[in-house]
Amino acid sequence: MTQHDAAPGSSQPGHPARRCVIAIDGPSGSGKSTVSRRVAKAISGQYLDTGAMYRAATWAVLRDGIDPTGDPAAVAAVVSGIELTIVADPDQPTVTVDGISVDGPIRGPEVTSAVSAVSAVVAVRKTLVAQQRAIIVAAERIVVEGRDIARVVAPDADLKVYLTASAAERARRRSVEISVDPGAIEADLARRDRLDSTRAADPLRQAEDAVVLDTTDLGIDEVVARLVGMLHV
Ligand code: C5P
Repeated sequence: MTQHDAAPGSSQPGHPARRCVIAIDGPSGSGKSTVSRRVAKAISGQYLDTGAMYRAATWAVLRDGIDPTGDPAAVAAVVSGIELTIVADPDQPTVTVDGISVDGPIRGPEVTSAVSAVSAVVAVRKTLVAQQRAIIVAAERIVVEGRDIARVVAPDADLKVYLTASAAERARRRSVEISVDPGAIEADLARRDRLDSTRAADPLRQAEDAVVLDTTDLGIDEVVARLVGMLHV
């Protein structure tokens, strides 16, 4: 079961007056998280990091000693049995599993190397997509980031964006974040991109009606301004 809390925020001039769902997809390191949080704040909306949900599910699988690549049914059983709580607050997004805060561990190397295997399990996706849709339906304004948001989770989103950037730039950004050599990161990002875009269940793919934005040579402020400018609501 998933619970979520509303982000603080109020209606201000210039903010979308009605319900508004923004879907932001793209590969790792494309700037999705930073951009999504900033856009959510700009519209006084919530921010849902679906990658954090797949990471939290993976943390639980590893906690329970299940091989993420070995037995999909065992992986799915763990994920359907956990209580995953995500706070969709762009200022302080947090995630817990069975009451334990996992914000730190889900960003560690163990979870990062296992998450693509766990997220390829069809039953895991079914469980988490249902939870994500419930959060979106309950929200007034929300920015949702992931890999399959525009095509699967929220196909009726008001704005669909596919963010991308060169492999070298994505690795450079991630290396600044986690202080690891960009060469090693580029190889790991390429591995995850390959797994995420070639899996059978809801692979990473650009939606036909998504706006594609290559952020390689763009600053965060410019990307955020362009997206907020696209909101005709
Ligand atoms: O966005 P982030 O890199 O934290 O996502 C971690 C992993 O979760 C991805 O590499 C992908 O395997 C999975 N994921 C997914 N579908 C989403 C979001 C993330 O399969 N909507």
